[in-house]
Amino acid sequence: SYGAKVAIAEERFLGGTCVNVGCIPKKLFSYGSHYRDSGREAAAYGWDFAEPALDWSRLIENKNKEIERLNGIYSNLLSNAGVTLYEARATLSDAHTLCVGGKKVTAEKILIATGGKPSRDNILGTEYAIVADDAFYLEELPKRVLVAGGGYIAVEFAGIFNGFGADTTLVYRREMILRGFDIDVRRHLAAEMEKKGVKFIWNSVIQRIDKVEGGLDVSFSDGAKAQYDQVLFAIGRVPNTSNLGLEKVGVEMNENGAIVVDDYYQTSVENIYALGDIIDRYQLTPVAIGEAMRLASNLFKGTNDKMDYADIPTAVFSDPPIGTVGLTEEEARTKYGEVEIYRTVFRALKDTLTGSSEQTMMKLIVDKPSDRVVGCHMVGPEAGEITQGLGIAMKCGATKAQFDATVGIHPTAAEEFVTMRESIPSPASGSPGE
Ligand code: NDP
Repeated sequence: SYGAKVAIAEERFLGGTCVNVGCIPKKLFSYGSHYRDSGREAAAYGWDFAEPALDWSRLIENKNKEIERLNGIYSNLLSNAGVTLYEARATLSDAHTLCVGGKKVTAEKILIATGGKPSRDNILGTEYAIVADDAFYLEELPKRVLVAGGGYIAVEFAGIFNGFGADTTLVYRREMILRGFDIDVRRHLAAEMEKKGVKFIWNSVIQRIDKVEGGLDVSFSDGAKAQYDQVLFAIGRVPNTSNLGLEKVGVEMNENGAIVVDDYYQTSVENIYALGDIIDRYQLTPVAIGEAMRLASNLFKGTNDKMDYADIPTAVFSDPPIGTVGLTEEEARTKYGEVEIYRTVFRALKDTLTGSSEQTMMKLIVDKPSDRVVGCHMVGPEAGEITQGLGIAMKCGATKAQFDATVGIHPTAAEEFVTMRESIPSPASGSPGE
């Protein structure tokens, strides 16, 4: 749209991880996994449904149709914009030349946005385990699932499998999931997941997997053994930088294989740029899009914009989900010293009839001298939807007094964010560390 002549090389599918094996199918799975509980809870509201029965292959078929529709939309967007699409792998021959499916293509500027892929643990029997990419194409719902890892993908898939009715266990190498998130969020989510039936194995990792009659025998580092039907590795992602010819043209990478760039996404080679998961900053689609918008504008519209990475709101589509923006309590105490913590835990109105014991947790962290809200955290239904608006408030530098002056929308869970009046004695959460 800025008038540049553009071609894209894509060897796999348009839309990348997010559209094909990430955010979109994951959120569809997450929606799907809630119907079992919703159907049961509807009885309190007078509805009687037949015993729930899951047709997994129908779910996969419908999900695949939607992904294909999105692939088509991306393809149309590109062709309508006059972009040439090479459905092939590209490798760099020199700083201005690529080999694209055997064809020589030259370019003044080259952007590398090849993303990442799930890591696998290098253990005996690793070939019997799956990664997130495979989980979207399972032929049937496994009865007993072991999820390894404690990050976004592990907790999301644990919630999805559990919600669909699989007997689900999560094994994590430390004491509490979601390292880096606020400690109250981590503890609250783990407790809610446990209430819903997810089992946790802490301070342990998978040591080997043996395929046996009837399932997969898993041996853990703490000496325990158990059998599952499926093992999912969700232990992080690695940048897709191998076999692209990067070393040959001198594009610098860090020890994790991620491409090193400056504030304007320029690599160590002047005309080659990189952004998104491949630069290993924030592996989030909207961040990659934000980076790309700035790069395009800086290169072809003459701007000099930098991406602001502060206060990026994010959601984890666990069950219940997390919404978070700004600092954790621990980070705020380190950065500001004097902070006020507001926290509420309550049962949602809907559940007063259903009898569900699910609890929602919300937390505000305020820098006391300036009264600025520096962290908003939530675990509970629609946390992602609620947190987006809080992200705007934080970008505007909202104070706690301004939160308090905002009229609540009644009856919602979100109104709790503007009605928390009493701060809790400091330190709020005992030790905010792990
Ligand atoms: P993360 O980096 O978030 O988490 C990886 C987890 O695996 C950590 O708990 C880590 O433990 C653990 N781990 C790492 N190596 C090993 C190992 N060798 N053995 C056992 N455990 C190990 O990765 P994910 O794969 O969950 O997700 C990748 C990224 O994708 C996320 O960070 C996020 O940016 C993005 N994403 C975003 C989503 C969203 O916006 N909702 C959804 C899904 C992904 P430790 O804590 O000890 O390091």
